[in-house]
Amino acid sequence: MSTPTRITHLIDGRPWTGTAERTSPVYNPATGEQTGALDLASAALVGDVVKSAAAAWEGWADASLAKRSGVLFAFRELLNERKEEIAALITAEHGKVLSDALGEVTRGLEVAEFACGIPHLLRGGFSENASTNVDVYSIRQPLGVVAVISPFNFPAMVPMWFIPIAIACGNAVVLKPSEKDPSAALAVAALWKEAGLPDGVMQVVNGDKEAVDALLTHPDVKSVSFVGSTPIAKYVYETGTAHGKRVQALGGAKNHMLVLPDADLDLAADAAVNAGFGSAGERCMAISALVAVEPIADELISKIKDRMGKLVTGDGTRGCDMGPLVTSQHRDKVTSYLDAGVAEGATLVVDGREAEFESDGEGYFLAPTLFDNVKPGMSLYDDEIFGPVLSVVRVHSYDEGLELINSNPYGNGTAIFTNDGGAARKFQRHVQVGMVGVNVPIPVPVSYYSFGGWKNSLFGDTHAHGMEGVHFFTRGKVVTSRWLDPSHGGLNLGFPQND
Ligand code: NAD
Repeated sequence: MSTPTRITHLIDGRPWTGTAERTSPVYNPATGEQTGALDLASAALVGDVVKSAAAAWEGWADASLAKRSGVLFAFRELLNERKEEIAALITAEHGKVLSDALGEVTRGLEVAEFACGIPHLLRGGFSENASTNVDVYSIRQPLGVVAVISPFNFPAMVPMWFIPIAIACGNAVVLKPSEKDPSAALAVAALWKEAGLPDGVMQVVNGDKEAVDALLTHPDVKSVSFVGSTPIAKYVYETGTAHGKRVQALGGAKNHMLVLPDADLDLAADAAVNAGFGSAGERCMAISALVAVEPIADELISKIKDRMGKLVTGDGTRGCDMGPLVTSQHRDKVTSYLDAGVAEGATLVVDGREAEFESDGEGYFLAPTLFDNVKPGMSLYDDEIFGPVLSVVRVHSYDEGLELINSNPYGNGTAIFTNDGGAARKFQRHVQVGMVGVNVPIPVPVSYYSFGGWKNSLFGDTHAHGMEGVHFFTRGKVVTSRWLDPSHGGLNLGFPQND
């Protein structure tokens, strides 16, 4: 077994050379080997980094739109060139298969492409002669130092939901990646310097609660973009806003796929398997509850079982369909739901513990697992499991299915499978979920729309990327301007009226 590599912060464009008081192990989940030792930042170090970012911000905020978009274009090109390297880092620490990791980088790249258009996106409005000889115009200005705190499941893409837009808008960023798989985010962050971004505008501190709390309470941090589990998202939202910050905190999910009796069941079975087991179910948009409107459940389950029989679980570098879970603790937690499901009365149709795995080491594997007859009140249904466990819930009407989805405390993503356009339209209108797919199981919006859920899946009112991202990372200002005309002088204490 080789010695774990030191992984550290990226401060002012360079790896940190200090000595960490605390470190955290990083593993290859496909083999169980510890590959890295991650430096964890103290609150004092976070304070120094924020100070340095604030100093760098002054110059960057004044950089012209031409200069800023030039850096964005260069960053986009570098990321495109290095996307295979970044994908390999994701697979090595997260475990997802290489093709999926590459897909993740590509979706992040799309946000950089969106941000390349920042001169257009930041254009304000101008009204000439709003009052006689008075012009009114609107501008949007950067916030200052903004914090991004990201989860393990999309180590490259989630930071890129925010960072290209934040930088393009003229902010300085402090990123705190997940301590479970930090290397991909660090590699992407290093590209900014190569792209011509001044040192200090893009900082990365690694850490845990201590670093997060330091960011949430630091007076020079103006906004927080958080993605992670619901309890932490709620905590981040409450603490950040209590300290005067603008906060968008995206939380957990329980995504339902409603299959109506008239749906193409082969299409629905493919979609359920892809969306249930891709990335080992560790996607916030994964389908975990398959809501089958009778009488189709038996036929749909049989088609899903056939497809599951063809899936290979193993090391993500070997062309398998599905990789391991991120840590042994997480694998054990997910596995515990299998026993709980049986004890609570659900029917275990395919047991992922019984599969063979393709790996040389002791990876954290659990193969795709299918339950039938799952109901609200069972932990399988009530909890966000975040693993390769698909639960079939049988209902007897469209209305019963809709009611089930709308009663769930989460509202991230959902999908309907049907050939009835009227039913699909009714669903997209009445379902209380932020992102809706029609015959599309993982409806992740493209970068020029915004990503975000409802209810316990998002705290704050602003979704990620698209125009909502541009608004989140800027403050609006309206200027009312008159160049002096002596005929409009004189005293008048009344409220300004337009003439
Ligand atoms: P997590 O909540 O454990 O960690 C997220 C971040 O919070 C990490 O950077 C972590 O270091 C930090 N953190 C952890 N504990 C903390 C604490 N006590 N105080 C302060 N900070 C803390 O989430 P995770 O396990 O890394 O990611 C999986 C979760 O993220 C799932 O719930 C998933 O649904 C969610 N997620 C949501 C979205 C979305 O768009 N809604 C996207 C991706 C992931």
